Amino acid sequence: MGFNIVLSSPSGAGKTTITKKLSQKYPNIKISISHTTRKPRPNEIDGVDYHFVTREEFEKLIQKNNFYEHAKIFDNYYGTSKNSVNKLHQGNYDVVFDIDWQGTKQLSQFEELNLIKIFILPPDKKELKKRLINRNQDNNKIVEKRLKQYETDIQHWFDYDYVVINNDLESCFRQIEKIIENHKKEKMSFI
Ligand code: 5GP
Repeated sequence: MGFNIVLSSPSGAGKTTITKKLSQKYPNIKISISHTTRKPRPNEIDGVDYHFVTREEFEKLIQKNNFYEHAKIFDNYYGTSKNSVNKLHQGNYDVVFDIDWQGTKQLSQFEELNLIKIFILPPDKKELKKRLINRNQDNNKIVEKRLKQYETDIQHWFDYDYVVINNDLESCFRQIEKIIENHKKEKMSFI
């Protein structure tokens, strides 16, 4: 099995950009595509950004024990399907999970995944608000909801192996690359 890397952060801290950058730079890194009941944003593609499903479909998948983890976030369900992840493992890929702290807790219980858990923080709440407004994906009400959620999210940094502050995208990305490289070196030295 390759590496399993969790990247979590409060919404708007840059995690999705970093996740995509990792998979673009390293062909061996694949993003775990989650299922969600959230409606697609204008630039999102089904099967690429998420598997967009109805609440009924999602609940059926829960009943069939199809998820490694799932959580309700901002009134929508999000979950990591065992099938998608297992396929990536069979291909010997490193897998990046862009999931929240609730999902990370559940995924950590699968010890065989040997998760590398990284938490990304924005420099401060003011900057986060600016980013959430600038990305212009959500209406004001949702932005306010995400800012409130921020307070709860950041309390969970201690569940992670690393905390990286996204002051500057490039330097945050380099730090995350370094963390992964170091784990690879460590693994090689055991072989
Ligand atoms: P968004 O709606 O902005 O794409 O994502 C909202 C939050 O859901 C983000 O914090 C993201 O990391 C989290 N998320 C996305 N997919 C999953 C998943 O499969 N499981 C869990 N627990 N969280 C997820």
